Amino acid sequence: APLTTSQIREKYLQFFQSKGHLRLPSHSLIAPDPTTLFTVAGMQPFKPQFMGAPAKFPGYGESKRVTTAQKCLRVGDIENVGRTLRHCSLLEMLGNFSFGDYFKREALTWAWEFLTSPEWMGLDPAKLYATIYEDDEEAFQIWTQEIGLPEGHILRFGADENFWPADAPAKGPNGPCGPCSEIFYDRGPRYGEDTWADYAQTRESARFLEIWNCVFPQYDRQDPQPDGTPVLADLPFKNIDTGMGLERIATVVQDVYDFYSNDVFAPIIARIVELSGKPYEGPQNLSHRVVAEHVRSVSMTVADGVALSNTGRGYVIRKILRRASRHAYLLGLREPTLYKLVPLVVQGMGGAYPELVQEEARVTAAIRAEEERFLRTLEGGIQRLERTLLTNILKRYSNVSKGGVTPFEDASIVTSQEAFVWVRDHLPQWLIESYRPSFKGQPGDEREYVARVLLKDVEDDLFAPYKTGNRFSGVSVIFSTGASINPSEVTLSGLETFTLYDTYGFPLDLTKEIAEEYGVSVDEAGYAESLEKAQELARAGSKYGKSELFGGGQEALEGLPPTQFVGYDDLDTQGEVLAVVGAGERLDHLTGGS
Ligand code: ATP
Ligand code: MG
Ligand code: MG
Ligand code: MG
Repeated sequence: APLTTSQIREKYLQFFQSKGHLRLPSHSLIAPDPTTLFTVAGMQPFKPQFMGAPAKFPGYGESKRVTTAQKCLRVGDIENVGRTLRHCSLLEMLGNFSFGDYFKREALTWAWEFLTSPEWMGLDPAKLYATIYEDDEEAFQIWTQEIGLPEGHILRFGADENFWPADAPAKGPNGPCGPCSEIFYDRGPRYGEDTWADYAQTRESARFLEIWNCVFPQYDRQDPQPDGTPVLADLPFKNIDTGMGLERIATVVQDVYDFYSNDVFAPIIARIVELSGKPYEGPQNLSHRVVAEHVRSVSMTVADGVALSNTGRGYVIRKILRRASRHAYLLGLREPTLYKLVPLVVQGMGGAYPELVQEEARVTAAIRAEEERFLRTLEGGIQRLERTLLTNILKRYSNVSKGGVTPFEDASIVTSQEAFVWVRDHLPQWLIESYRPSFKGQPGDEREYVARVLLKDVEDDLFAPYKTGNRFSGVSVIFSTGASINPSEVTLSGLETFTLYDTYGFPLDLTKEIAEEYGVSVDEAGYAESLEKAQELARAGSKYGKSELFGGGQEALEGLPPTQFVGYDDLDTQGEVLAVVGAGERLDHLTGGS
């Protein structure tokens, strides 16, 4: 049987212990320094040691070589989850670090030994590739001369790919940084016909998977000169910082299609299938994937003490949970369900992270409460949406034309009788209930009554342009009883769709899903336009441009729409959440990763 994720984690730590490394526990997901909200890499807790602080770790000892499995959360990868084959929002980074002790030669040869030796991972060397920083001849020599990697398996990139943090010289953050060499694994033609040479251009491949980043931090990035020239001072000594994604290596070693079939995620996916009754067939089932992955990140983060809230970390976690909740909804789950997956997360991760076991009850309760709140918020949006869909159908099949003067009282029905019947028969229960207090008729006539009230609203709307005082002028009414109802001729406009998003936080994919149930189509291009317009407006006068929320991520918060957001009112919404909700997809860019 292939190694389990836990076995791989353990083997990695043992391998580096056998090379003289001190094994340390993971730092919390709450970042150890203010450059990011969450811990984004294994190296982050060791910045002081890279900068020259003594390599002393109270309670564990003293060592210039350490190894860890670090839990990380990358906000910038949230939207990638489920969409690429290689991104989790929460990942475990296996790392080995040297504080002025060994350098490139050992780092690269040990990485190679761990990956290829049959005693350890036993991967086929012919499937391994590496990238190096453009002029790093030292790394090139080690790869080709000492390790024996063919030249054709090596690519050279600039600071955008082979410097960590990426582009640090130009963009920061300040602190330890350096060139790096990354190891890739060729997953074979099943994932694409592209070649390693293609990767030089595409820099994106499902086939060539980045598994390990070996960083050589030897610089301290400081504030640039007044003219913008980057300043890279030498660190007191040369360091090693490597990071290998446990989820990625496990997927390769277990030879499964992607994360979602490995030993940690497969049981979670299976339970989602069971709860929803919707089969999981692969990457096309985005919702299963998002739910499985996000429940894990939220569980781990809440276990580390992050409370769901409207600011900072708590908001990011709420966003992740709501994304999961929305995908659960898309799977037809209308009751809180995500919390039922927590035991499986604990089963997969609790061995390595005992805090998760300890906090299981609190995590479960927090997730459940948030699901309940979010489902209520969704209800508000759904009601608004359903009402709009029904009135749009009535309008589409109604006719008003200029002619004589018709007092309103006489304009009893202006709509195609068929449209009226269609709407009456499709009224959702909530709408009927909401009119119950004003209904005075016979039991059984409620539907007819509510349909008439709706129709009256539509009529008022249609007549409005012709209305003078209490009378209609120049209007006559046509009964278009012949029209045959075809809801696919009806559209939900871009503005209507955008308003739902903007006001109720009601996302496009849900709007589409529900509109489809009514057979109505959504003007997506119009939606995109409205969104764009709102963002432009905001760029012109945003007061959130330099948000305090995200230390390192201000750029990403620039240009947010000044959202009139009422959907989360029940959650004591404050200014911050408006900004971040407005940011929407732009949260992508808030990451400390490369
Ligand atoms: P990618 O280019 O695939 O986004 P990266 O270059 O951003 O990865 P690094 O910052 O170099 O990643 O992190 C070191 C290692 O951590 C990567 O080589 C990969 O194995 C793993 N890793 C990074 N991001 C993720 C993620 N979102 N999910 C799972 N593993 C990840
Ligand atoms: Mg990388
Ligand atoms: Mg990369
Ligand atoms: Mg990345």
